[in-house]
Amino acid sequence: MVYLDYAATTPLNDEVLNAYTKLLKQYYGNSDSLHALGREAAKLMETAREQISDLLSVRKEEVLFTSCASEANNLALKGYAFHYQKRGKHLITTAVEHSSVLHTMEQLEKQFGFEVSYLPVNEQGKVELESLKQALRKDTILVSCMLVNNESGAINDISVLADYVHAFSRAAFHMDGVQGLGKVELPLDAVDMATFSAHKIYGLKGSGLLIKKQHVELLPLISAGQQEQGLRGGTSNSPVNTVFAKTLRLALEKQAEHTAYVKGLNDYLREELAKLDHIIINSDPSGSPYILNFSCLKIGSEIMLNALDERGFCVSAQSTCASHTKAHSYVLSAMGLGEVRATHAVRVSLSHLTKQSELTSFIEALKEIIHDYQIR
Ligand code: PLP
Repeated sequence: MVYLDYAATTPLNDEVLNAYTKLLKQYYGNSDSLHALGREAAKLMETAREQISDLLSVRKEEVLFTSCASEANNLALKGYAFHYQKRGKHLITTAVEHSSVLHTMEQLEKQFGFEVSYLPVNEQGKVELESLKQALRKDTILVSCMLVNNESGAINDISVLADYVHAFSRAAFHMDGVQGLGKVELPLDAVDMATFSAHKIYGLKGSGLLIKKQHVELLPLISAGQQEQGLRGGTSNSPVNTVFAKTLRLALEKQAEHTAYVKGLNDYLREELAKLDHIIINSDPSGSPYILNFSCLKIGSEIMLNALDERGFCVSAQSTCASHTKAHSYVLSAMGLGEVRATHAVRVSLSHLTKQSELTSFIEALKEIIHDYQIR
């Protein structure tokens, strides 16, 4: 089997697994208990919070543990919108966000009377400052924009967008940084809130972070105990939260080396795909090297994915969270690439674990599938 779906999730790092197993067995105390076992669990989790804050150059109090990035996005957007709604009810996001942002925005719009502007993207999949300028209003309270798109790999100029928002409005800026963590530089200085996930960087599933700068207030979505500054009650998952620090350290330590290697893989795959008939590459070369999206104009996404699956290749057509809906990429549509490319897309996502020989066999499989399909 050849796994080329690392943007969907990654295998667990052995060091993380070992540390996690040890924590589960030995440090099972409730981190809010006052006895020794509780205090030990709390100490480990708070040390991890400090390590994460050092690694990300934010304050310790600005690191909130969540159960996943989808929860962090919900907390950032709803928590902020509910808290600041007296200031204004206008929100801005982009047309190509992950479902955890888009569906949250839709809910705020439909159920809670907020107005949402969805910024378009250009052919490279990036948000242009001009469209943000046009959308920003006096009553805008929050702007949410992703760092790296999970389908196209496009990287947004977050600092430019956030600086504009801060200079010309009272709105806060939230960044979904999930596909950028451990891969591209993080513009954390420029934003008020940021979301991350452990399972995209060889960590545990069900583990996320919300970075919330100290001046930002949120309304809690889970009303319960004092955990996470009262912003998400419920017994802390201290072993999971504790190993996030190791997961992050390992990812950041090797970021430059891994990214240079993956860039080489991406270049190779691009060159090989360019030699094939009926293939158009959808990801701009300026994007993240970890994601390469292309369309085979003769074969729809579903058929292609099944054919690749039969040959042992794991790839996606679109965001995994939307993979059970009709195979149509709203991201590629928003990029203006047309209906055919949006319904014929394949997303390959790469890792430092990917071998060039795996990409060579992937290309061979593609050639075979295209050939078989043509003579049918
Ligand atoms: N944001 C982006 C850009 C993603 O790619 C994903 C996962 O696919 C998420 C958010 C959600 O992450 P999680 O699985 O931790 O909820």
